[in-house]
Amino acid sequence: MSPCIETRLDRQVQVRNGVQRLCYVWAYEDWYGPIPEGMQVNHLCHNPKCYNVEHLYAGTQAENMRDMCEAGRHWNQQKTHCKHGHEFTEENTYVYGVRRTCKTCAKRRAAERYELQRQAI
Ligand SMILES: [Zn+2]
Ligand SMILES: [Zn+2]
Repeated sequence: MSPCIETRLDRQVQVRNGVQRLCYVWAYEDWYGPIPEGMQVNHLCHNPKCYNVEHLYAGTQAENMRDMCEAGRHWNQQKTHCKHGHEFTEENTYVYGVRRTCKTCAKRRAAERYELQRQAI
């Protein structure tokens, strides 16, 4: 895919003939023609500042949400360490569907809970 072309405008809204639209929406219409009714302009690159017409497609809101989810999932799978820096190895990972949990952290949390309960007695 070609690189993103990001708008350098602070406000992404552009007014033409009294019509206000986001600049990537104008870019899409200039290139491909009017957006079909009920559709919106989505980004393949998930970069809301990008107006590279190769990255734009007309789709529904639902498609956009699904794409975002998939992008998020890919990102999650690429993570190799938990936020406390423990590696996601096979032995150190609980998997719940698409979510992964670090066993070291889970154990520590359990120990902390136990400690609190013990102190409460
Ligand atoms: Zn882009
Ligand atoms: Zn951890």
